[in-house]
Amino acid sequence: MTTPDITLNSGTTIPQLGLGVWQASGDETEHAVRYALDEAGYRHIDTAAAYGNEDGVGRAVAASAVPREDIFLTTKLWNADHGYEGALQAFDTSLGKLGTDYVDLYLVHWPLQDRDRLLRTWDALEAIAESGRAKAIGVCNFEPHHLQLLVDRGGLLPAVDQVELHPHLPQTEIRAFAQQHGIAVESWSPLGGTSNSGWGPNSKPNTLLTDPIITRIADRHSRSAAQVLIRWHLRSGLIVIPKSVHDHRIAQNIDVFDFELDDLDVSEIDTLANGTRLGMHPDEMNIGAPR
Ligand code: NDP
Repeated sequence: MTTPDITLNSGTTIPQLGLGVWQASGDETEHAVRYALDEAGYRHIDTAAAYGNEDGVGRAVAASAVPREDIFLTTKLWNADHGYEGALQAFDTSLGKLGTDYVDLYLVHWPLQDRDRLLRTWDALEAIAESGRAKAIGVCNFEPHHLQLLVDRGGLLPAVDQVELHPHLPQTEIRAFAQQHGIAVESWSPLGGTSNSGWGPNSKPNTLLTDPIITRIADRHSRSAAQVLIRWHLRSGLIVIPKSVHDHRIAQNIDVFDFELDDLDVSEIDTLANGTRLGMHPDEMNIGAPR
């Protein structure tokens, strides 16, 4: 079964489910992306300059039997590269590593505390979109007050806001703001993250995949916990990018289009909302940002 598409405010479509590759090495990424495209049926890959594996994605896309135009490719601008010229240069570097002359979605990885510089970054992304080298542009980790800056600026609004989102952190305020402004919401750490979410002292192990509520629902449907979580995102209209470097999990995570969660399942999952965050709050995150 094919993954449904969501139409973005740019007019382009994005497959609602894709493969994330954070914390995968270049070689792991190359293998995972190749398997995802050629064996498991994925058509959407989510990487970032900061993951250090754009070259692995590029090698897999080049070797894949799937034509480039059938693949939705996202990458992200790292914090150090904010500003007009910095963003243009970082974008060129990413295209070079990915071995492509366009991306489908270019995202600002984190908002910057320096609002003027953040707006200059957005000017650059707008210029990139107008050149056709990014089919859509968007942001990550933007709270409503960051999005409001771009609304007030006028011009292109982000097509997507990619934020930490899972049953512990359903992000209702961001989703309401985004819906009001035609911005699609994409869930990162949709399964509750890796065993080491890489945030130093904030790092927390994944507890969702073994949560008794999730595993009980999984048993009711004879599915895995990951599949239940992915269906929860899909049913909520969210774009979802679970990460795995293991073939059987990559295949399992896209094998979710022949079952549905019912209202009881969803009401049970919704009781898990407790505000637990795996990553830093976007208002506190400034790692690598220019001084
Ligand atoms: P996820 O919530 O996707 O969880 C990934 C973890 O779950 C890995 O440890 C993986 O292990 C494991 N896993 C995957 N599938 C299964 C399965 N079927 N059964 C059991 N375990 C499974 O975490 P991420 O933090 O990686 O988030 C997903 C993606 O979101 C990232 O890869 C990245 O692309 C993006 N992201 C964006 C951020 C941003 O700031 N914009 C921040 C963080 C993430 P294994 O690989 O060993 O199979």
